[in-house]
Amino acid sequence: MANPTHRHTRSRRDKRRANWKGQNPTLVECPECKEMKLPHRVCAQCGTYDKKKVLEVVSKEL
Ligand SMILES: [Zn+2]
Repeated sequence: MANPTHRHTRSRRDKRRANWKGQNPTLVECPECKEMKLPHRVCAQCGTYDKKKVLEVVSKEL
């Protein structure tokens, strides 16, 4: 079984983890309502995908 021969130092471990950061999701503009949305997803604002209405949008507001 492959196993690490030596334990890395705390410093080395922490330097590796220092490069681990979150990324902002890529957003594209909806061609129908111009709201920002995730690419290849149905638009949450107007419920369209590929210029076709696929969902009825129910407003979360009162
Ligand atoms: Zn839209």
